[in-house]
Amino acid sequence: MPINIAIDGTAGSGKGTLAKQLAKKLGFGCLDTGAIYRSVAYYMIENGVNLSKSKNIEKAIEKIDFKVVFENQNGNKVQKNILNGKDLGDKIRTEQISLASSIVSQVKQVREFATKIQHEIANSFDVVVEGRDIGTVVLPNANYKFFLTASPQVRARRRLKQLKLPEDNFESVLEEILERDRRDTTRALSPLKAAEDAVYIDNSNQLPEETLKEMLSHIK
Ligand code: C5P
Repeated sequence: MPINIAIDGTAGSGKGTLAKQLAKKLGFGCLDTGAIYRSVAYYMIENGVNLSKSKNIEKAIEKIDFKVVFENQNGNKVQKNILNGKDLGDKIRTEQISLASSIVSQVKQVREFATKIQHEIANSFDVVVEGRDIGTVVLPNANYKFFLTASPQVRARRRLKQLKLPEDNFESVLEEILERDRRDTTRALSPLKAAEDAVYIDNSNQLPEETLKEMLSHIK
């Protein structure tokens, strides 16, 4: 049985960076599940789907031609999100897609679509899987589980840096983060929450290497 490590957490908690670092350290693959929801959102926006009605999203998801593949790069498995045969690359990393992904991810059919892809990958090789519902719903039997978070202000600052945005965008980025937190934690299906058996880490006052060290100390 492949080894699965689940990392869940809030937007800007550093889970993406830490999942990659942890995977590298252990020689595992790394699956960014948010990228699946982002790719679905990208597809919907490109196709002019009106996201205000979940019926529209339900219809559109049936037609999507999407898969996740792993490319071997210098011995590392690198995730590619392929829509209609083309790698989406960074097109899914905009603020518009961030918000749209938190809308489409509320729809049951979208969650089922994404979860199936995640199960296939987790069953195939040793992998660190990061998202919102991994330890609670997707991989409740994961070998190790972590939940990462930090204060909204710290997370907004990190996002600002990551997106290379000027300081006067701070308030709007903070608002976007709070809005996503609200949507992700209050949705009916697979809401964002820490699994009871997850190691909970608030890394507001930690450097990434300190969080990584703490995580590694739990892995035998
Ligand atoms: O992690 P990331 O910020 O890329 O995720 C984008 C959005 O996708 C989240 O705000 C959330 O709504 C959704 N998501 C989810 N379940 C996951 C991963 C992401 O609902 N496992």
